[in-house]
Amino acid sequence: MVQATNLGFPRIGAQRETKKQVENFWAGKISEQALDEAAVKLRAENWKLQQAQGLSQIPSGDFSFYDHVLDHSVMFNVIPQRFRHLAIGHERNFAIGRGIQKPATETQPKVDIEAQEMKKWFDTNYHYIVPEFETNQSFHLGAQIKTLDEFNEAKALGIHTRPVVLGPLSFLLLGKTAKNSHGLDLISLLPSLLPVYEELFSKLAEAGADWIQVDEPCLVLDTTPAVIAHYHSAYTRLAAVSPKLKILIATYFGRIGNNVSFIKDVPVAGLHIDLVRAPEQLEHVIANLSQTQVLSLGLVDGRNIWKTNLDNALKIGQAAVKALGSDRVFVAPSCSLLHTPVTLRFEKRLATKHAELFDWLAYSEEKCKEVHVLTQALNNGAESVQAELDANKRSIDARRTSSHTTNSAVRQRLEAIVPDQLRRRSAFPSRQADQHAALPLPAFPTTTIGSFPQTKEIRLARSKFTKGEINEAEYNDFIKKEIAFCVKAQEDLDLDVLVHGEAERNDMVAYFGERLEGYIFSENGWIASYGSRCVRPPIIFGDVHRVNPMTITETVYAQSLTSKPMKGMLTGPVTCLQWSFVRDDIPRSVVCTQLALAIRDEVVDLEKAGIVHIQVDEPAIREGLPLRSVDFDYYLQWAVDAFLLSTTGVKDTTVIHTHMCYSDFQDIFQAIVRMDADVLTIENSKSDMRILSAFEKHGYNAGIGPGVFDIHSPRVPSIQEMKERADAMLQYIPARNLWINPDCGLKTRGWKEVNESLTNLVAVAKALRASA
Ligand code: GLN
Ligand code: ZN
Repeated sequence: MVQATNLGFPRIGAQRETKKQVENFWAGKISEQALDEAAVKLRAENWKLQQAQGLSQIPSGDFSFYDHVLDHSVMFNVIPQRFRHLAIGHERNFAIGRGIQKPATETQPKVDIEAQEMKKWFDTNYHYIVPEFETNQSFHLGAQIKTLDEFNEAKALGIHTRPVVLGPLSFLLLGKTAKNSHGLDLISLLPSLLPVYEELFSKLAEAGADWIQVDEPCLVLDTTPAVIAHYHSAYTRLAAVSPKLKILIATYFGRIGNNVSFIKDVPVAGLHIDLVRAPEQLEHVIANLSQTQVLSLGLVDGRNIWKTNLDNALKIGQAAVKALGSDRVFVAPSCSLLHTPVTLRFEKRLATKHAELFDWLAYSEEKCKEVHVLTQALNNGAESVQAELDANKRSIDARRTSSHTTNSAVRQRLEAIVPDQLRRRSAFPSRQADQHAALPLPAFPTTTIGSFPQTKEIRLARSKFTKGEINEAEYNDFIKKEIAFCVKAQEDLDLDVLVHGEAERNDMVAYFGERLEGYIFSENGWIASYGSRCVRPPIIFGDVHRVNPMTITETVYAQSLTSKPMKGMLTGPVTCLQWSFVRDDIPRSVVCTQLALAIRDEVVDLEKAGIVHIQVDEPAIREGLPLRSVDFDYYLQWAVDAFLLSTTGVKDTTVIHTHMCYSDFQDIFQAIVRMDADVLTIENSKSDMRILSAFEKHGYNAGIGPGVFDIHSPRVPSIQEMKERADAMLQYIPARNLWINPDCGLKTRGWKEVNESLTNLVAVAKALRASA
């Protein structure tokens, strides 16, 4: 019999209960016990919900208050030195995730411990806590073994689950070496790690587990034969732990490719593959299984919110059953459902106001149901679930033929794009001269990245406006006052290129989505981003286009208040794409090009309105990079083309800025050069200067503003400290190209620190000018 299975369920709760309870706990409003009770309740609900949808293999151990990788590190006692003196329990775990600061008391000295690093989980917008390993790292299970405890918790409810753990290779490969352990080869820790996995697995077997899901997502990355040999030896050992325990190695987010080679030679019981991202891999993988191994088919998209085309998925399932027999096939979502919202039950507004579109959607709960329907069809024939299949077909057909998803004018415009639309009129050196002649700026011009503090008052006004407690005119008035305040503040600080401050935006992607055609917004489509933070990505369902200008009013108003240049502020097409749920019926590159045309129109309108500096933010261009290096070029081609399409419709004298807030430019230097922006502002305050020389080596020779202070901290950097940084930058960057600015937007900061930090920043630029 084919089995209906799942790899992981969202842990945030249908109405973000976990987030709320965790934050209550942080605020001291609820006790540790109350927090635990809330989690017990939520886990039970999740298990029962999956059971009710008809799944037979339900995951346990997939819950987390903060991050599952953090929990895994703690379970194996991989706890950096600086946290070890803290009492075991939630407080310590949260400290690892968020750092901890406590003022000194009469009896206790002050506590100030930096959090562990956070990183994007593969190509998702979820962030995990990077394990920190030391030389001679010791691994052992503590008194609380989370995976085992949660398995037993489900068992006590009469639910037999499939425990999920992160596999040993991915655990090590996703980690980093602790500061005191420079030069440590992470894989060298495997021999001391494996016995602890063996111990965990045998405890799970004793407790009655039969299948265990071991996640090895690193198998979809570029790998070397040496690393594959480690997978081979590790799984040979782990599979021998208990005859009762069957290991399912789970891969997702991409194709396993030739990394599959070791699977048939190790006695693991099964392999999960992602057939949404990489449907073409089915045959190759089947050919590389042993005679008995099970294949778990990831047929339901765990990364998006659309209903599965059950007809198509069923065909793939049938091919697998034909090749392997039904006892060797599982049906599953492509990856853990962590990356999709919980349930459509609370989407009241979509259900009533956008009934047509609502019918195209499936969140986690509904996806579990799809897995069940597919499984039934495979086991008992399509007739056994005919009604469900028919209803699905109606939705899929309705979506395919809907007049709301295509717009012929947009399609024609896309067809008509010519190479000249992807090029500035002149090359940068000539533009730089023209720009300087048209609107001279002082040397080492100062600017900010766009947003200024989003104060309580701003959030309150927005919420009143959304609730209808103030009308549009009142709200607009309020925003105008905020803009005026922000412009005045920047004039007082004597910054050179000003911004309007983004008071009217609560989210840099949603703000544009709300003003473009082709988007809808959910009420409850939350997914985990990091820690307790959730995001609610806008949904791109149809051809995207701009009907009206989106930012002209605010920008022009801001410019009217000052004789200094006002920088227009837009979100770039790749970032809009990357941070939305994107339609899957046309290629992402096409959606991105549509977004680019919409932004292009806005850029051109800003120029027409007299705005000379225009910034198009692309903080997400790096995270869209494919997981395999052979796929980089194709992505970077269309992604950079989209940026070019959005920014090159202007005169040479218009200064195009872009901004990226990370410092990992490896693999994308060339692409950044090709973006041909006049000014690039990047995060740099925490990284060393070597990346600046790498920029130079790759031929980058335009304006650049490596951040001189970190906006994530309330700390006010001194003049001297920032001046030293700028001086160091000048070793790599010609003076004429250096801009002085913070790392990123200032929206999370308070005005006091912002004023103090920027006062010092301007002083640094002035000192540089004086000594030039
Ligand atoms: N312009 C945006 C801001 O300042 C950029 C945000 C970002 O890079 N994530 O807030
Ligand atoms: Zn940024």
